[in-house]
Amino acid sequence: MEGLMMMRPLKIADLLEFAASNFLNGEIVSVRTEGDIHRTTYRETAKRTAQLAHGLLRLGINVGDRIATLAWNGYRHLELYYAISGIGAVCHTINPRLSAEQMLYIIHHAKDRLLFTDITFVPMLEKLSPQLPPDLRIVVMTDRAHMPEGSLSGLLCYEELLEGQPDQIDWPDFPEETAAGLCYTSGTTGNPKGTLYTHRSTALHAMMVGISLLNVLQAGRRILPVVPLFHVNAWGLPYAAPLTGASLIFPGPKLDGKSLFDLMDRKKVYSAWGVPTVWLGLQAQIKAEGRNPEGFADVVVGGSAAPRSMIEAFEKSGINVCHAWGMTEMSPIGTQGNLPIEAHSLSLEERVEAKCSQGRRVFGVDLKITDDDGNRLPHDGKSPGNLYVRGNTITSGYFNDEEANREAFDAEGWFKTGDVATIDENGFLMITDRAKDLIKSGGEWISSLDLENVVMSHPKVVSCAVIAVPHEKWTERPLLIVQSGEDGDAPQEELLEMLSAHFAKWQLPDDVVYVENLPLTATGKVSKLTLRKQFAGHTLSDPA
Ligand code: ADP
Repeated sequence: MEGLMMMRPLKIADLLEFAASNFLNGEIVSVRTEGDIHRTTYRETAKRTAQLAHGLLRLGINVGDRIATLAWNGYRHLELYYAISGIGAVCHTINPRLSAEQMLYIIHHAKDRLLFTDITFVPMLEKLSPQLPPDLRIVVMTDRAHMPEGSLSGLLCYEELLEGQPDQIDWPDFPEETAAGLCYTSGTTGNPKGTLYTHRSTALHAMMVGISLLNVLQAGRRILPVVPLFHVNAWGLPYAAPLTGASLIFPGPKLDGKSLFDLMDRKKVYSAWGVPTVWLGLQAQIKAEGRNPEGFADVVVGGSAAPRSMIEAFEKSGINVCHAWGMTEMSPIGTQGNLPIEAHSLSLEERVEAKCSQGRRVFGVDLKITDDDGNRLPHDGKSPGNLYVRGNTITSGYFNDEEANREAFDAEGWFKTGDVATIDENGFLMITDRAKDLIKSGGEWISSLDLENVVMSHPKVVSCAVIAVPHEKWTERPLLIVQSGEDGDAPQEELLEMLSAHFAKWQLPDDVVYVENLPLTATGKVSKLTLRKQFAGHTLSDPA
């Protein structure tokens, strides 16, 4: 027997409408590429979004058209999120840190019709222009006074697109499965692959994030997404914030420690979200200032493993760390590490230990770990296996990419994450490594993440990576690469001695090299692919 309840399609436009009518004090504060600080409200944003939607319709945009954005975190980018999906088109966020080749690949692959860009990226587009699709129109996200002069012809001006348009709109009806957003992975192996979100998956994800991070997502709280809108929709914040009434503080292009500290201090940011590398800069600034930014109480760290030393430093200074895990293909949040209330009685050390795990699954995401033959492994906290996921916010197939889809799912339809993990009896997920980053030495696996975690706790180490170097006898051996701080290098012997306290001799790196900077991926993670290429021919000084 079927139940008797209405079926209304879940739609992204409703999230903003909800905020506009409920959260009058909800703010959106943006550091603009023009240089100043801009403030607005959800109500005002809803009006400008309606104007933008009318502008898009006037340009002939139809349901299903892909509209690209090449932009920092700011209010115009947020308006685009809602206007594009509101009319049934697809908001395709492009990561400006991708290589020119990858960027061109995805613009052509997505068949973008329009491209909205911040002023910052106009010179880059000028260089790419001979290879851009000839019918791609470019809109610069600024007003007439700031429109750039240059070689690109036919540039449209964002503010002019809105000018004179009605600030109300009846959003069209369409099924909730309609495509709403498109985000490509950074393509560390092969071409980038596109995840095509729906209105349903996006609205559900907003609700899941909202209830999972209740401690920060509330009206009156100010959230700083340092994670860019082009990195999996800033982990859902442009949707979860309006749903819950939390205010958004958009940092614009400057993401160094000092700029972040100053902005957070001035705007009394309660919670800031980003990958570990951005927190290295902020923590250095906190140390230099001898205090936290005013009002700062919570940090969400994800995208790659948060080092233990980073978690400890935040927790020690009274900042709650939520260590989260997810993927582009998962909208992205899969697990989050806020501890239950009873954990407040834990000692600092116990809390830090618990937070080194990636936390527990959010409602709606199922997890399983298997051996290489696909047999399920127990959730006992000590059996590492291939991690698979399933749920309403997880991709059912990459956009127009049959080849990638053949490999992406198991026979039961679960999505293969490519991560190796354990899950304990209380549901805590611990990522051991990315499968491709594990080091296979003499038939045994060594986790690069575990080694890095210990090395990061040395005060002279700013960042580090352990990678596999090919080895004749052992297949692969670990090489430790260290980026040192102002106090000079941590001696190799000290690092190995620290590691010896935690690992067997055969698991220790055979060599340590010191570099000025570790290469980063387009999403700000240490690029092990680059390092593996760079050190492929490295001769180990002390072959095992
Ligand atoms: P990209 O590789 O393009 O940045 P994603 O952001 O989707 O794409 O990367 C997802 C991957 O990042 C995961 O499969 C996992 O390997 C890694 N990851 C994300 N969060 C964490 C975390 N908290 N701890 C360890 N690894 C993480």
